[in-house]
Amino acid sequence: MNIQQKINTLREELRKHNHNYYVLDQPTISDYEFDMQLKELQELEAQHPEFHDPNSPSLRVGGAITKNFETITHEYRMYSLDNSYSKEDLEDWEKRIQKILGNVDLEFVCELKYDGASINLTYENGKLVKGVTRGDGFQGDNVINNIKTIKSIPLILKGDYPEKFDIRGEIILPLDGFAKMNEERVVAGEEAYMNPRNTASGSLKLQDSAEVAKRPLDCLLYNLVGDKVKIESHYKSLEKAREWGFKVPAEAKLCISVGEVMEYVNYWDIHRHDLPYETDGVVVKVNNRAQQQELGYTAKAPRWAMAYKFKAEQAVTKLNKITYQVGRTGAITPVANLEPVLLAGTTVKRASLHNADQIQKLDIRENDTVFVEKGGEIIPKIVGVNFEKRPDDSLSTVYIDKCPECDTDLIRKEGEAQHYCPNYNDCPPQITGRIQHFISRKAMDIDGLGGETVELLFKEGLIQNYADLYVLKKEQIIPLERMAEKSADNLINGIEASKKIPFERVLYALGIRFVGETVAKKLAREYKNISALKSASFSELILVDEIGDKIAESLIDFFGSEENLKIVERLRSYGLQFEVSAEKLLNQTDKLKGVIFVVSGVFEKLSRNELKKKIEDNGGKVASSISSKTNYVVAGSNMGPSKKEKAEKLGIPIIDEDQFLLML
Ligand code: AMP
Ligand code: ZN
Repeated sequence: MNIQQKINTLREELRKHNHNYYVLDQPTISDYEFDMQLKELQELEAQHPEFHDPNSPSLRVGGAITKNFETITHEYRMYSLDNSYSKEDLEDWEKRIQKILGNVDLEFVCELKYDGASINLTYENGKLVKGVTRGDGFQGDNVINNIKTIKSIPLILKGDYPEKFDIRGEIILPLDGFAKMNEERVVAGEEAYMNPRNTASGSLKLQDSAEVAKRPLDCLLYNLVGDKVKIESHYKSLEKAREWGFKVPAEAKLCISVGEVMEYVNYWDIHRHDLPYETDGVVVKVNNRAQQQELGYTAKAPRWAMAYKFKAEQAVTKLNKITYQVGRTGAITPVANLEPVLLAGTTVKRASLHNADQIQKLDIRENDTVFVEKGGEIIPKIVGVNFEKRPDDSLSTVYIDKCPECDTDLIRKEGEAQHYCPNYNDCPPQITGRIQHFISRKAMDIDGLGGETVELLFKEGLIQNYADLYVLKKEQIIPLERMAEKSADNLINGIEASKKIPFERVLYALGIRFVGETVAKKLAREYKNISALKSASFSELILVDEIGDKIAESLIDFFGSEENLKIVERLRSYGLQFEVSAEKLLNQTDKLKGVIFVVSGVFEKLSRNELKKKIEDNGGKVASSISSKTNYVVAGSNMGPSKKEKAEKLGIPIIDEDQFLLML
């Protein structure tokens, strides 16, 4: 077998395994074997760029950056759907149809209404060529680079597909993937995403496809469009789409009467909560495609399809008690503890009350009868009080003024909604929260240590702060619950390995308020080591680009504490990185200090990321769009025409890669 054949075979194999895993949910090899094959392909492709293929399974990890998505007019308009809420609504719809078609035999296809962002995929000769968002229905954005990272979407089809067609579906975030993403965010001190639908549609518009690749997005298909699709019924077209490699949920069902449609609706109204994704209703479609054509469209929706919306999920229950939770930063969240009630298929016992203002606004009190709703959000919320049922001896809620965990007086800063516990050093949830942030992926990324273990280690008195992690002994860990020789080894090795994590991430890991990843990078670059940063004054700090009063104040606070200084000193003595590495320093200059660049197009010598890194390493700044503040536009081939026009209008010099390199 020659190299090209070898590459093709590997691509074919990996495509098949992707399909087995992501579409059929029936993997036939282990993840490890898959990774090995993928690695082999990647190596061969790197050695033989002449066999590059934009549809190679190796490119599923993303990497392409799209600054401005191309607007594309849909060849076939993407309509909305009319809504129905009862059997009568559906019967009326059937009558309207029969009036147009003249009392014919009707079949319906019922599908679930997937709750995500709709997408129109275009295939030519079996290859994915476009992926366009719905937009306003007439035109949308081509998000193809992001679409290609979604592994259940085939890049290359198999079987007897038409030479050119569009297929429509919904990009969704399955619930477990969504929950996992949020867990990671919370550990990293970031705010959780509100609901899977908005997160899915937001993901499609990310500029960095590698970021999209990390999100567990999925795509469920429901409609074939195009003149070249010669299939007589919708149901058959779904079966065909499955054969070609698409993920078409098996729940789709053929029905021969409105009565049968209602059975489907009633069944899924209950069982939808067992599905791995969210659905807010059923879509009923006329099966025969010739009949569909005859029925046509109203100004807004097809006459041949109808959505059936499930009822809003609300429950009534009693609020037993209001309790308060303390987060890593000391922020207090009030929680409603409810009389358990069934809502959206799960038993709800707690709901978030957000903050003191919210409680006051809705006048929520203990012992009230309240309305609980589960919208798209994972955490249910209280939307109102049934005042008629309020007991006579009801007392209005007095918000706590002391920390429920450590009894310290709470504070509330001017202009902030949240109350805080200021007991930074001794408030237990703040201590464990900080350690959990310290070990999180974007910080010290300690393998083998999770949030629960941190709580356990704290409870057992083995750690009081993150510096204590570095003196943990294997013998101390093994006796703990659910720990074994191997997991203890992993933990110790993970901690040891974290000593190599670069300074900027250590700085982020310290959990200084308002010092996120980007700010940490800025500070590391500017001050180069912890001693310099520690001794910087407020007035010096705010001179640094993008460091404002809030951040400067927080840094002064942090390094003003004896306790923090001691911990940092200990970390340093254990060998963590508290200065920028010599190698990195060598590549850093101030040659481009204060110079603002916009990067556009594709380059030959450097990748876009390398180019951006060069700018930043030399003190320059990369902006995402051209403004009067921009100093240079570095343009490769394929620079967007609108960018070019804008740069010319503002008189901003456009330079190429070589000219840029000369500046260094
Ligand atoms: P609406 O936006 O409420 O008018 O509903 C129309 C949208 O429902 C379409 O744009 C699709 O994105 C979405 N949808 C979800 N599941 C289906 C399905 N099975 N068939 C058709 N449309 C669906
Ligand atoms: Zn406290």
